[in-house]
Amino acid sequence: MGRKFFVGGNWKCNGTTEEVKKIVNKLNEGEVPSQDVVEVVISPPFVFLPLVKDLLRPNFHVAAQNCWVKKGGAFTGEVSAEMLSNLGVPWVILGHSERRQLLGESNEFVGDKVAYALSQGLKVIACVGETLEQREAGSTVDVVSAQTKAIAERVSSWADIVIAYEPVWAIGTGKVATPAQAQEVHSELRKWLSANTSPEVASTTRIIYGGSVTAANCKELAAKPDVDGFLVGGASLKPEFIDIIKSAEVKRSA
Ligand code: PEP
Repeated sequence: MGRKFFVGGNWKCNGTTEEVKKIVNKLNEGEVPSQDVVEVVISPPFVFLPLVKDLLRPNFHVAAQNCWVKKGGAFTGEVSAEMLSNLGVPWVILGHSERRQLLGESNEFVGDKVAYALSQGLKVIACVGETLEQREAGSTVDVVSAQTKAIAERVSSWADIVIAYEPVWAIGTGKVATPAQAQEVHSELRKWLSANTSPEVASTTRIIYGGSVTAANCKELAAKPDVDGFLVGGASLKPEFIDIIKSAEVKRSA
């Protein structure tokens, strides 16, 4: 099916110039599988994007953590998709649960952002995921399907979208989804894509897992057939991120 393993590092709202330089040095020294095996995308805060882009090894790329929903202009404090394209930033993370939950970003707003970012030539890591309450109520699949539907209704191609399944209860909590839980939701998302977009989109779109991924748990998760990589928060700031990138080898030997 040729879904290249994908590992994203979401630095969230962390770092000073000195810290950023240190982390990038570590990333640049790390021994990782070739670009044919794994695609690596690092997402620092906006202000560090040019620095990271300049210093980062050429086989790793950068992502912004958000962008504005439409053309820039009188929107104080926002960063537009046009600006990211202009800086040569290829990727953007949209719909992260910290924005959905804390800033009230709705499914429709996220869908609009995804469509606009794509229209400006950006590639998108689109995050979906349920809260603990929703999981316990048995509505996980309904929630992630509705989040995915709001994107599907607004885009004509999935070629530049990676879906990140990130259960809210697993993000930053140390409570990782079991490989079986991740596989189940990824497989349901693929079924949803097949039924509502096309079987081709379903079989080619990468669905990565995020939520307390570490060097210790990544290999077991990576071994699941519908887990195409990871979006990593906390551990992406640490040397163990290199080991998480290396978990791409699990797929190669599968
Ligand atoms: C994230 O921020 O997308 C994330 C998955 O965070 P963490 O790995 O820290 O749970």
